Amino acid sequence: MTTVIDGKQVAASVIDAVKTASQALQDETGVKTGLAVVIVGNDPASHAYVSAKSRMAKECGFTSVQHTLSEETTQEELAALVQTLNKDESLHGILVQLPLPKHLNSDSIIQSILPEKDVDGLHVVNAGKVATGDLDGGLVSCTPAGAMVFVRRTHGEDLSGLNAVVIGRSNLFGKPMAQLLLAANATVTVAHSRTKDLPGVCRGADILVAAVGRPQMVKADWVKPGATVIDVGINRIAAPERGEGKFRLVGDVAFAECAEVAEVITPVPGGVGPMTIAMLMANTVIAAYRKAGKKAPKF
Ligand code: NAP
Repeated sequence: MTTVIDGKQVAASVIDAVKTASQALQDETGVKTGLAVVIVGNDPASHAYVSAKSRMAKECGFTSVQHTLSEETTQEELAALVQTLNKDESLHGILVQLPLPKHLNSDSIIQSILPEKDVDGLHVVNAGKVATGDLDGGLVSCTPAGAMVFVRRTHGEDLSGLNAVVIGRSNLFGKPMAQLLLAANATVTVAHSRTKDLPGVCRGADILVAAVGRPQMVKADWVKPGATVIDVGINRIAAPERGEGKFRLVGDVAFAECAEVAEVITPVPGGVGPMTIAMLMANTVIAAYRKAGKKAPKF
C-alpha cells in the first residue's frame, strides 16, 4: 500500500505547535512574536501568497504587519523600509515576497535583512549555516525545511545508509535540501539539467526529491520500488476538460504511475506546498525565542 502524504494535515500539526510555542513565549516573557511581510507591485499570485502568509501569522497569534508598495517603488525606498523593519524590536521576522518587479535588485534587498530576522532563510549567513551543518544556529529556507519534515516523519532523524537524490540545484530549494539530507546522514546526489542518465541516477534513490519546474517529468521507471518520492514542483498545465482556458496544478512527478512504485509519495497540490507557509511561521517563532534569549523549539 502506498502512503500518500497529506501535506495539509502535516502543515496543520506544525501550525498547532507554532501556536502553542508563541503563546508559551508570550506567557513566559511577555514577548509577542511579530512578522512583517513586504510586497511590491501588482502580481496577483504574489498578492495571494502574501495574504495567506499575513492571515496565517494572525492565526498563529503573531503581530502581523503587511507593507504593500506600488510597482513604482525605488530600490532606495525598499531598502529604507527594510532598515526600518530591521530596527523594529517588535518584529522578529521579515519576509520580502519574491519575485520583485524587474527594476529592483532582489539579492541586495534580501542580503540587507538582518540574518536573525530572515525567516525565508535566504540570507547568505543562513545558507552558510545550513551548508556548514549549523542547523540550530540559523534559519532554514522554508520549502526544504518543510520537505525535511516529511522525510523525518517517514524515515526518522537518522538517514544513515539511505541514498537520496535531489533533482534541482537552486539556492532556494535544491542546495539547502541536499545539505539537510546530508546533515541527517543520507548519501546525497544532486542532479540537474547537465546530469547524464537522470532516470538511472534517480533509480538509485531511496529518497527522491524533485524540484525542477517541469510538469510530470519523473516517470514510474525512474523510481526505485519502495522509495519515498517528494514532489516540490508546482506547474500550471492546460486542463481543457475543466472548460476552455482552464488550468490545473501538477508537480514534477507523474503522480499516478509513480504512486504504483513508491512506498511514500507527496501529491501536488496538497503536498509540499502547504508546508512552506507552516515553516515560515515556525521560523518566525524560532526567531522570537532566540531574540528573547530562550531555547527555540524544533518543528
Ligand atoms: P529553479 O531555480 O528554476 O531550478 C530548477 C532546477 O531544475 C535547476 O537546478 C535546473 O538545472 C534543474 N533542471 C531544469 N531542467 C532539468 C532537466 N530537464 N533535468 C534535470 N534538471 C533540470 O527552480 P526552483 O526555484 O528550485 O523550483 C523548482 C520547482 O519547485 C518549481 O516548480 C517551483 O514552482 C517549485 N517550488 C515550490 C515551492 C513550494 O512548494 N512552496 C517552493 C519553491 C519552489 P540547472 O541548474 O542545470 O539549470
